[in-house]
Amino acid sequence: MLQKGTLYVVATPIGNLQDITFRAIDVLKDVDVIAAEDTRHSQKLLNHYDISTRLTSMHDHNESQKKQLLVKDLESGLNVALISDAGTPLISDPGYGLVNLCREQGITVVPIAGPCAAIAALCASGLATDKFVFYGFLPVKHLAKHQALETLINDSATTVFYESPRRVVDTLTAIVEVLGGHRQVVIAKEISKTFETFHSATAEETLVWLKADDNHQRGEFVIMVGGNKDVQNDLPSEAIALLKLMMAELPLKKAAAITAAHYDLKKNALYQYGLSIDE
Ligand code: SAM
Repeated sequence: MLQKGTLYVVATPIGNLQDITFRAIDVLKDVDVIAAEDTRHSQKLLNHYDISTRLTSMHDHNESQKKQLLVKDLESGLNVALISDAGTPLISDPGYGLVNLCREQGITVVPIAGPCAAIAALCASGLATDKFVFYGFLPVKHLAKHQALETLINDSATTVFYESPRRVVDTLTAIVEVLGGHRQVVIAKEISKTFETFHSATAEETLVWLKADDNHQRGEFVIMVGGNKDVQNDLPSEAIALLKLMMAELPLKKAAAITAAHYDLKKNALYQYGLSIDE
C-alpha cells in the first residue's frame, strides 16, 4: 500500500534485468505514473516484469516544464515513480530539478535503492573504498578536462568517473598526463552484462591495453583512479622525498630509520608508508 502523493525514486538494472528489487517492482506496479528518461527504452523493462503502469517522459530537455506538471499530479494525490534508462536516477541522470522541487513543496520523496554503476564498480575494484569521490563525467573539452583533473592531483581518495566509449582513450590519456602514469586505474566495463570486465593496472598500462584492441574500447565504462598515496598520511613532503631517495639505495627498514631520525618522526609511520609505495 503506497502513501498518497509520494515521489518514488526507483533504481533499475544497469544491464542484467534480474538486478531489480522486489520492492522496486511492486512500486512500479502500484504508482499511478512512471516518469522515465526514454519511454521506449523503459517499456522493455516494464514488459519484462509485466508492469502496465502508464509511462511519461522526463529528460534533460523537458525537466524544467515537466517537473511542474508532475508536482501538480503529486499534490492532487497521485503517486509518481521516477526512473532513468539505467541505475539510480539523478546519478549522472535527470531528476534533480524534480526532487528538489518536491522537497521545497513538502512532497514526500522515497528512494527505492538498487543498482548504481559507480558503486557496483567500486565494490569489486580492489581500490580503497573508505573515501571516494564520485566525479561523474569529466568535461569533454581538452583544457576543461585537464583543469578538472588538476583539482584531483593531491586527493588521497579513490575517484570514480563515468565515460563514454568514444572518449575513454582521450580521458585515460589525460589521466596519465595530469595524474601520472603510475596511478592505479581500474576499468569496470559492461557491469552485469555478458562481457563484464574488470581491468586493473597503472594508468599507463591501461592506456596501452585500451589501444591494443578496439574491443577494449567498446561498451559502458566506469574508470576508477586510486588516490594519491603521497598524501595518505601526515608525513611531511620533505621526509617522503628523503625516504624515497634512501629506498632506492637501502633496505626499507634502514631508509625509514634514517629518515625518522633526521626529521624526528616515527620510524614505523615511515616504514608503513614505504611499504605502501613499494609495490
Ligand atoms: N544513473 C546511472 C547509475 O546509477 O550508474 C548512470 C547513468 S550515466 C548516464 C551512464 C554511464 O554510467 C555510462 O556512460 C557508464 O559510464 C556508466 N554505466 C552505466 N551502466 C554501466 C555498466 N553496466 N557497466 C559500466 N558502466 C556503466
